[in-house]
Amino acid sequence: MTIGTCQVCKKEKDRPLSVDKCYSCLKEEHIDAVKEEIANGETTSTYLEDCVFCPYCGDELNNIPMDDNHAELFMEGEYEWECGACEKVFLVEVHVTFSYSTERKD
Ligand SMILES: [Zn+2]
Ligand SMILES: [Zn+2]
Repeated sequence: MTIGTCQVCKKEKDRPLSVDKCYSCLKEEHIDAVKEEIANGETTSTYLEDCVFCPYCGDELNNIPMDDNHAELFMEGEYEWECGACEKVFLVEVHVTFSYSTERKD
């Protein structure tokens, strides 16, 4: 990890050594790439992504709010989800991972 100027947003940020873009620009680029693949029919499903992509129109649900309307998206399982953009219903499989940190108490 290194600090450098991102070539996309021109901000000084942490970025991977080998790339000249920051993590948030890389993420946006990835989201755009997935959307494009869905839009042109190259892909009809997404796997282990950070956000929920509609497999019909590519609309993405990013930074999912932790409220009652989105409660299922925080629980392990498979759910039917209606796309907010094209209103088609698709399946979302939610993977929940846990990690642990510890420290001495005294
Ligand atoms: Zn950037
Ligand atoms: Zn959709």
